[in-house]
Amino acid sequence: MSERRLRDLLRVDPGSKVRLARIDPSDTHGHSRASAQKELPAGLVRLQGLQDRLWAEAKHPVLVVLQGIDAAGKDGTVHHVMSAFSPQGCPVTDFKVPSPLEMSHDYLWRVHQHAPAKGEIAIFNRSHYEDVLVVRVHDLVPKSVWRQRYAQINDWERMLVDEGTTIVKFFLLIDRDEQKRRFQERYANPAKRWKFKMGDLTERARWDDYMKAFEDALSRCSTAAAPWYVIPANKNWFRNLAVAEILGDVLEGLRPDYPAMDPTVPADLVIE
Ligand code: AMP
Ligand code: MG
Repeated sequence: MSERRLRDLLRVDPGSKVRLARIDPSDTHGHSRASAQKELPAGLVRLQGLQDRLWAEAKHPVLVVLQGIDAAGKDGTVHHVMSAFSPQGCPVTDFKVPSPLEMSHDYLWRVHQHAPAKGEIAIFNRSHYEDVLVVRVHDLVPKSVWRQRYAQINDWERMLVDEGTTIVKFFLLIDRDEQKRRFQERYANPAKRWKFKMGDLTERARWDDYMKAFEDALSRCSTAAAPWYVIPANKNWFRNLAVAEILGDVLEGLRPDYPAMDPTVPADLVIE
């Protein structure tokens, strides 16, 4: 079957202008919930094997960036897809409102220290992109400052890639109605209520501004070195399937393998 890979279907071509209104957040690209029930576990087993080799080999750093509006499913993606990885070798960093110490430095200072080491898959739940998203929407710095950041981010990511890091960036796309449903569910569910903040509604009121900021970040910062993927995320099962497949394809491209045995260990050793 010559089925096209989601990696090719969902990647933002460098230099192209993203229009989010033209992308269907409920799209499943021919996959069904029933087929996904078989595909996803297989995808997770594949990821598990790849990460085990990657960690053993300790050669390639991998950085996974997750962005999306509130309730887009960033935490759910970490929970469902990254559960394939051993916590050893898979640090997850949540980027929140910067602390006073972080604020006293440049915006990349707090980010760089969480960049992955060789063999690690570092996951950024939110990231340096907040500095051209929430910061732009709320005028936290003047336009003359944030507008320069797209090029700075590209340069910084390019440096990491030149030094051997693989970067994969996922933007989880939901629509306004889906966000409403998810907020309602959070508010109603005692196990999820803690996640709901009044501030979520003020951010929701700025929906269009956020979409514009996302479009610019996706259009200006999807590079050959560090591409963005726009994941239709209204359906959690498709989101998980897509992230797992793309991540699997990217990791497979690194051809991770177990290192050879220590040469000082004799080949005919009998362990008693
Ligand atoms: P949550 O991910 O729901 O726990 O919320 C984290 C909050 O931190 C979000 O409202 C983000 O917009 C905010 N945040 C993250 N990074 C920054 C930043 N660089 N400047 C301002 N706010 C940020
Ligand atoms: Mg939140």
